[in-house]
Amino acid sequence: MNSQNNYSLLESLPQDLLGDILSRVGSSSVEDIRPCLLVPKNISAAVEDHRVFQNLNLRPQAMNPLVTFFRTRHCLQKCINGDNPAAHYIEGIKQYFIFDNMNLGLFHLKKSAQGKYDNGTYLYGMLLLCNGNIAQGQIILRSLDWEESKLRADRAWREVKRSMRFVFLIMKDVYRATLRNNRPPHICHRNDINNRCPMCFHYKQMRKFIGFIM
Ligand SMILES: [Zn+2]
Repeated sequence: MNSQNNYSLLESLPQDLLGDILSRVGSSSVEDIRPCLLVPKNISAAVEDHRVFQNLNLRPQAMNPLVTFFRTRHCLQKCINGDNPAAHYIEGIKQYFIFDNMNLGLFHLKKSAQGKYDNGTYLYGMLLLCNGNIAQGQIILRSLDWEESKLRADRAWREVKRSMRFVFLIMKDVYRATLRNNRPPHICHRNDINNRCPMCFHYKQMRKFIGFIM
């Protein structure tokens, strides 16, 4: 079947179904839906379906949020409006670390965590902890099931570091004070950063985060 016939077949589908199909295509890559903008009107209109932006795969942008200052800025805003959790993560990093807007940054990271995006959940929980909101930070990090297995939390931390490798990070006094005030007991796996029990897990994760900023 040639591409003309493919378009004719797609055009015959109801708009709602087209939106659903394109949201699935976009969940694997932004690039895959770009050609749809150059085809008949009802197909390109279906790209505007909110489900497309909600599920759009933003992994390359999430791994380097700075690229969204130059490319995909328009698309990112539509994804934020569509509550795409990776888009909230990207915007959260930009607002918190680049524009130094703590409240707006935390707002977007919270949205990302609510959308069950692990990297957003980790960063939101970590920033709550480091800003002294220990109880809430612990609740957020617990949703990564680290007490069962630390795989998800550790993977999220690796990806958060990757996302922020080109971002200029500023150390805040409150981070150091929170770390100092929340030392685990002396008996608890001292000088062994990789041995983390429920008593020292949060402290050691905070130490890694603060060490990364310094
Ligand atoms: Zn311990």
